[in-house]
Amino acid sequence: MNHDVFKDLVPSYIEHLTSEETNRQMEVHMEQCKNCREYLHEMQEEWLSENVHEQAKEDKNIDYLKKVRSKNRKKILTIVTSLLSLFLILILGYYLLFIRMWIADANDVQTTIQNQGNTVTLSFKSKQDNRHLLIRKEQLNRDFTDWMVIYEKREDLSTPENLKDEINITYTFLDENTLLLDNGKEKKLTNDDKISIQYKDSTKELLVKDLYNPENKRQ
Ligand SMILES: [Zn+2]
Repeated sequence: MNHDVFKDLVPSYIEHLTSEETNRQMEVHMEQCKNCREYLHEMQEEWLSENVHEQAKEDKNIDYLKKVRSKNRKKILTIVTSLLSLFLILILGYYLLFIRMWIADANDVQTTIQNQGNTVTLSFKSKQDNRHLLIRKEQLNRDFTDWMVIYEKREDLSTPENLKDEINITYTFLDENTLLLDNGKEKKLTNDDKISIQYKDSTKELLVKDLYNPENKRQ
């Protein structure tokens, strides 16, 4: 084998593309020719460094892909978190605006007592615009409504017309010392018969007897 043929075969030899017979002949030539032996070594080193370089490039590309994927994951997570937060804020806002009711502040409630014949009407009205009141009535200690809690709520489309004005609670008297109960029975009134109206920070007490006296209107 001459030097030129050897050199032509070197690239194939390095990539293991040459036949066993060719390899054998090349090795025989290398043993005799220092020049070709060194040429092969040089080419091998070059090939090796190029390949290492290629590998590094590929690794870099993979790293880049990983980074892009991780960035996308973060983006998606951010979007999902934002949407979730927005959703929660909307629900909370809706709740605060339309559903929530709270025990009314006494200062926000206008109370009037109206006597009409034997009937006394306690009326409650919110002093604030766009608010209405709700009442919870209880017969705690007596057989008439003796305890009530006044709630306040924002007015919205679901507010019934009859709540927009004021809420009333009515007591019927037979005379100044006798209350007519819902069940038709009579109740003799004493100075212990009181009505408690609970507000946010205070409870107002009214003596039932006082309600009947037309001159004793209270605010
Ligand atoms: Zn040679």
